[in-house]
Amino acid sequence: AEEFLRKMDKLTVVGQLAAGVAHEIRNPVTSIKGFVQLLRRDQWKNEYFDIMLAEFHQLESILREFVFLTQKRSHQFEALSIANLLRGVARMVQEEAPNHQLLLDVEEVEGIRLWGDQSQIRQVFINLLSNAVESMPDGGPIRIKALRTEHEHILIRIVDKGCGMSEERLQRLGEPFYSTKEKGTGLGLMITYKIIQYHDGYIHFSSTPNKGTTVEVYFPLNRPPDTA
Ligand code: ADP
Ligand code: MG
Repeated sequence: AEEFLRKMDKLTVVGQLAAGVAHEIRNPVTSIKGFVQLLRRDQWKNEYFDIMLAEFHQLESILREFVFLTQKRSHQFEALSIANLLRGVARMVQEEAPNHQLLLDVEEVEGIRLWGDQSQIRQVFINLLSNAVESMPDGGPIRIKALRTEHEHILIRIVDKGCGMSEERLQRLGEPFYSTKEKGTGLGLMITYKIIQYHDGYIHFSSTPNKGTTVEVYFPLNRPPDTA
């Protein structure tokens, strides 16, 4: 836990430094991308334009994630049905990943409510499930189970049978721009860590190379805001 907090401090500084930059760059990037798209329509086929557009796409996703990360505290906390939220996210990810089987078990938390920001909590599970999907390029099962712990926490466990991670890789999770993927941004987990911290939760990874990864996310229950 100490190490986790240390990591979070580091990330906050990085996030703040990047906040202004990301915000300023996003509009011109979107605008230039639009013009490239227009130009490409006039040339009937030009691979350079395709490369440019692919790069812009990448640039945009980095900026989108950064802006999300650094959005200032305009959060909307509410009592969320965790079962419904997980059902919605799983359905969405399943549509994008038809070769994977998302197996969801939310029976134990049916009716339980979690105090949180809906779009942020959704983002956490979108990020974690995307990583699980990407760890199994040829498809495979992803198990999601939500339970209630004895200590007034809700636990959501995601298990994949993908590429897994070495100890060295595990240590680096949550570092900005740490990605082993050709098209990765390396920002997904950084955002995930930050959101979970903001909700007084915690996250734990265990993994075996070539066997798979288990992620456990804990959120406190019955935790009304400080405004009480
Ligand atoms: P990205 O997905 O853009 O690479 P993330 O921050 O989401 O960035 O993840 C960082 C890195 O952590 C990934 O590139 C991958 O190496 C590793 N990782 C995260 N989740 C998993 C997983 N379920 N299985 C294997 N590796 C993972
Ligand atoms: Mg990711």
